[in-house]
Amino acid sequence: MATMTRRRVLVAHTGGTIGMARSGDGWAPSPGHLSKLLAEIPELQAPEMPEVTVREVEGLLDSADMSPRHWLRIAREIGRWVDDYDGFVILHGTDTMAYTTSALAFMLEGLSKPVVVTGSQIPLQQTRTDARANLIGALHIAAEFPVPEVCLFFGQRLLRGCRAVKVNAVGFEAFDSPNFPPLGRAGVDIRIEERLVRPAPPEGTRLHVQGFGEPVVGALRLFPGIPAKVLRNILRPPLQGLVLEAFGVGNGPAGDREFIAALEEGARRDVVIVDCSQCLRGRVDLERYATGRKLRDAGVISGFDMTAEAALAKLFYLLSRGLSAKDVRRHMQEDLRGELTP
Ligand code: ASP
Repeated sequence: MATMTRRRVLVAHTGGTIGMARSGDGWAPSPGHLSKLLAEIPELQAPEMPEVTVREVEGLLDSADMSPRHWLRIAREIGRWVDDYDGFVILHGTDTMAYTTSALAFMLEGLSKPVVVTGSQIPLQQTRTDARANLIGALHIAAEFPVPEVCLFFGQRLLRGCRAVKVNAVGFEAFDSPNFPPLGRAGVDIRIEERLVRPAPPEGTRLHVQGFGEPVVGALRLFPGIPAKVLRNILRPPLQGLVLEAFGVGNGPAGDREFIAALEEGARRDVVIVDCSQCLRGRVDLERYATGRKLRDAGVISGFDMTAEAALAKLFYLLSRGLSAKDVRRHMQEDLRGELTP
């Protein structure tokens, strides 16, 4: 009788609600706690489930404490084990999950295996937890489906990581991908939309983990009446890149001459200023309105339909590669990982 070898998945636990335990201070990450809980889930031992290894990424966190340093630790964990597993599941807090999935998408160059990031709104140890369904779905996808991308699986939907945003602080469908359809759904069966999945890199491509240095980037959400000096302040050195969360199709207070002058000065000093919309859906079009054109003429570039999370991660990525501001601006407007529709 032929014996089937079970697929192998590495689960990298970074923290987040999913594995938290009650502490005197409220829910908090607790080393070793998640592995104990997983050992008690009978479904994980079922023959159709992959063989799972759990590793705690050094320093479990509430994801509100995540930083580019931690993104690099997660990326390196995948880099270290990439040849030994069929796929990877990253357990992560929901608060900054979409930032991490965006960052990993850029950091993991030449990725040929699924990296599925998930977590939960209710800890795994609680009766009404959503962790079990999220984890089991993520494990299935990482083990069985050829999706060579960083994805986010939550509330039965598989989203492209660099298109995801957290849209609900308390609901089980906490994430959405407003400008790109889900890559898959888990119902009675797990269905992957193969035509939407990015192609695998050419056979033999080695995974390269592109570390992030320490570029200084920022994000600023515009509001009616924003003082020009607030913008001027944020654009001061050592800032290298700014995600400008603008109105509608990317408009800003172009009637304020000081505001436009601050943008011009920043752009002249080679700060890369990327315009993303405050709206969840649709895309930036700096041609449509006079208020948008003035931003463009001041040196602001379009972020098209990128999420602010993806734009920020992409700035980190490009500015870490020692490129000129001109090249960073050019690549910002190109589709590198499926993060934007050109
Ligand atoms: N504060 C938690 C975190 O992001 C929330 C969660 O996991 O849902 O780590």
